[in-house]
Amino acid sequence: MNKYKFNFENSYLVLEKSLYTRLEPIPVALPKLVIFNQDLSDELGLDFYSVTEKEIASLFSGNRILEGAQPLSQAYAGHQFGHLTILGDGRAHLLGEHITKKHERFDIQLKGSGPTPYSRRGDGRAALAPMLREYIISEAMNALGIPTSRSLAVVTTGENVYRETALQGAILTRVAASHIRVGTFVFAAMQKNRKVLESLLNYTVKRHYPSIDTNQNKALKFLYAVIERQVELMVEWARVGFIHGVMNTDNMALSGETIDYGPCAYLDEYDSNTVFSSIDKFGRYSFGNQPKIAQWNIARLAEALLSLIDLEKSKAISLAEKAVNSFSSLYEDRWLSMMRAKLGLVKPKNDDKKLIRELLTWMQRTGADYTNTFCDLRDKKKLNDISKYDKEFEDWTIRWQLRVSNNPETYKRCIDLMKKTNPEIIPRNHIVETVLDAAEQGDLQSLHKLLDVLKNPYRKTLEISEYKTPPKDDQRIFQTFCGT
Ligand code: AMP
Ligand code: MG
Repeated sequence: MNKYKFNFENSYLVLEKSLYTRLEPIPVALPKLVIFNQDLSDELGLDFYSVTEKEIASLFSGNRILEGAQPLSQAYAGHQFGHLTILGDGRAHLLGEHITKKHERFDIQLKGSGPTPYSRRGDGRAALAPMLREYIISEAMNALGIPTSRSLAVVTTGENVYRETALQGAILTRVAASHIRVGTFVFAAMQKNRKVLESLLNYTVKRHYPSIDTNQNKALKFLYAVIERQVELMVEWARVGFIHGVMNTDNMALSGETIDYGPCAYLDEYDSNTVFSSIDKFGRYSFGNQPKIAQWNIARLAEALLSLIDLEKSKAISLAEKAVNSFSSLYEDRWLSMMRAKLGLVKPKNDDKKLIRELLTWMQRTGADYTNTFCDLRDKKKLNDISKYDKEFEDWTIRWQLRVSNNPETYKRCIDLMKKTNPEIIPRNHIVETVLDAAEQGDLQSLHKLLDVLKNPYRKTLEISEYKTPPKDDQRIFQTFCGT
């Protein structure tokens, strides 16, 4: 353990050498701390209380290597918008795995820390606004109770990065259960060496799915376990209206966490066709398409695992297909339970799906705000006022009220369930963009205020009203960019 209480292990180094490259971050000119996540530092059992900002900046820029760290960049492949490419950490360094007092294992990774053998034509660097964006959205996701990588620090580098214009360079310290992706298995399978794939499977099962019975078909059990977690994650994204934006196979973590926040955003008005990524021309990664794409990605994982599922290829294919196909009905079931909870339907009834679909159809037609509509439903006075404007909605609310409030006791349970399931606050895109603009000018006040509010997304208070307001027409943001 070093003086900051980082307790590093570097278990990834036991894997086959083709899966990573050992190398150190490239030092930067003038590291300066922008933000440090004290809460996360405490959760991880770290101690930076008597450490100067200068020292923190030096450590989380990679200028000084933390004692015990053995940095590496990981190799992986990825289907980018469907097309298979060899990738790898082109601008990231895994410092090592921090083991907490509770024996939890977390990757500590620098992102934007310099070129690597996997950089292709990239500069290995990142800009300030996208790194702060990942910080905000990942921390919001965590407070919403959704599995995600976390953000420990952002530092500026004192160097410019060149995208469409010159931007301030920055490095994010990312904390994740691991960075093993669907694309890591695709890459391992491409090596055509059973040992490489097998050791990666053993490693991943031990790290993320230790309860799998290793006496049975391990690769197949693993596939089903990954499906289960991805289904859960897709349902959670649907619950809060999250759009990832680039669900390439390299951006899907096998831990079941949300990772790689790029052109992502949360829905304001409900529209299942919403895309934010400026390069997603055909809506491949639109809000409503996310479960299908997750299943498509899992089919790529299944292909990578075939040789380990069964030596007889036709048998392996039939077992893998059955697993991949199970995704849809599992998703439907879990999605229905989640939507029931959003509407406070404590006990399931046959017509629930119809009731849910009717509301979503109305929201889609009218462009109702996804977050606020579910909050308004439990406010009788507000509901009465809004529903009067629209006959279809008024009729729906009458049906819904009949369904939920047969007596005061059940009504209270219904409201409690809705409070737990429907956030009051999400990081709305127009607000995030304003905060990032200010931060780029050196004003961090609104960033801290937003982060503070996002810590309690299910609590309704007077102070949060400005964060609840959907964008006015001139504030709407239709696209976020990949130029990160
Ligand atoms: P992403 O869109 O962030 O998931 O990145 C896709 C791939 O491109 C990953 O392999 C990244 O490491 C790599 N990449 C993204 N930006 C850069 C950059 N500026 N320099 C080098 N590699 C990059
Ligand atoms: Mg990525």
